[in-house]
Amino acid sequence: MKKTLKVIIPAAFTLSTIMGSTAFAEPQSKPNGPYVENEQNISLSSYMSNQELYDTLKKLEESSNGKMKLEIAGYSNQTLNGYSTEAAKGEPLYVVKFGDADPNKKRILITTQIHGNEQIGTEAAIDIIQKLSSGGKEVNDILDKVSIWIMPRINPEGADNQYEDSWYPTRYTHQTWDPLKIELPEGTEAPWYYNEDGSERAQNNNGRIVYGIPGYDQNRDYNPNLDFKIEDLNKAEVANFLNNPSTNNSNFGGFYVTAEARTVTSVFKEFQPDVYVDVHHRGFNTVSDEDDRSVPVQLAAVVATDSYTDPFTGKQYEVDEEALKLGKQVNALSYLTLQRGFSHFGAIQKYPDVNLPGTALGAFALNDAAIMLIEIKGQSQTLGQKQSGMLKETVKAPLYEVFKGLADGSIHTIDPQIYDDIPPSSNRISDPTTRDDEGF
Ligand SMILES: [Zn+2]
Repeated sequence: MKKTLKVIIPAAFTLSTIMGSTAFAEPQSKPNGPYVENEQNISLSSYMSNQELYDTLKKLEESSNGKMKLEIAGYSNQTLNGYSTEAAKGEPLYVVKFGDADPNKKRILITTQIHGNEQIGTEAAIDIIQKLSSGGKEVNDILDKVSIWIMPRINPEGADNQYEDSWYPTRYTHQTWDPLKIELPEGTEAPWYYNEDGSERAQNNNGRIVYGIPGYDQNRDYNPNLDFKIEDLNKAEVANFLNNPSTNNSNFGGFYVTAEARTVTSVFKEFQPDVYVDVHHRGFNTVSDEDDRSVPVQLAAVVATDSYTDPFTGKQYEVDEEALKLGKQVNALSYLTLQRGFSHFGAIQKYPDVNLPGTALGAFALNDAAIMLIEIKGQSQTLGQKQSGMLKETVKAPLYEVFKGLADGSIHTIDPQIYDDIPPSSNRISDPTTRDDEGF
């Protein structure tokens, strides 16, 4: 088939921006979008606020006839002294439980919105919770065999961020680095994933905004040593580590300075899931030069390609082979579920293998969980609510099949090679709002 390469430049994208950017260095495929172009208003109004989310969860628990248990696993600021913002405890971090941490059952943990501006995973999670809590024979058969725990929106402060009196969801958490509060020397460098000025790329492609609340990329704050506590370590050793750029970087686990990462990790430790799923958003791709369907999701079973040695304890962490196999089977089943003729649903790519021990997926993969990364296309800054129904479906449908596959054991009959053969990430559409340095 003849290649059609075409550069699409959003209408109000100025020449100076293009000249100053490397974003257009690669050939562009014709995007069948949509992403929101400059000056368009982005509507977020149908997404749930924190309060709406909490109210919805409580209603679902009430109507579930005891199937669903709703618990607060922690709060967004309830951790080390000195990491608090104005409100003492911060926002609740809920865990929705279908079944107990029963070693005789298969166990799956799902988290969403670790980045506050990645809403659709949370909306999909609510639909899943609704389906599971409403019962029926198929659901009962699943829940007889599988315990399902869901933590929707594990970054409630970023999700509810305000800027100039408007709702402005952001990637980062809200916390301030203050080394003195944890008895580190004054001036000790912050972890590399700290966003000191509280700035982020703006909605509607208009450069960057400074909302002014410092915070962290929670998805770099995890550590394969799930018991890592910065306050318990030798302070001089920690300070040296942080002050040295060759160690304060993404090759190492995070420092568990956010209450959110600690809370999620405590749930992981209690539940010990066989499978852990984290739902994100990312940029835009088409399948290939020949197939210009817009990719709705990328999937990954590999986020820790290397073993990990904790630099403070010397302890080694490795990805378990059986867990890796199950992770590939979970991803493969998800891929197969979305093949519905030549539709957008099936236009799936595989996220590139990465080695990020400070991500939740990486840290948990190094602690014997099979993992699935789901990367929905677009960010709230670029996509708004467009296609949200279709994109929710690309999360809900695969997860429901994974529940069934875990319940009847059929997941173990899937050929992991199907995962290896998923088309790799390629044909990125350079959305001018996408910053290359962020990753998932
Ligand atoms: Zn993300």
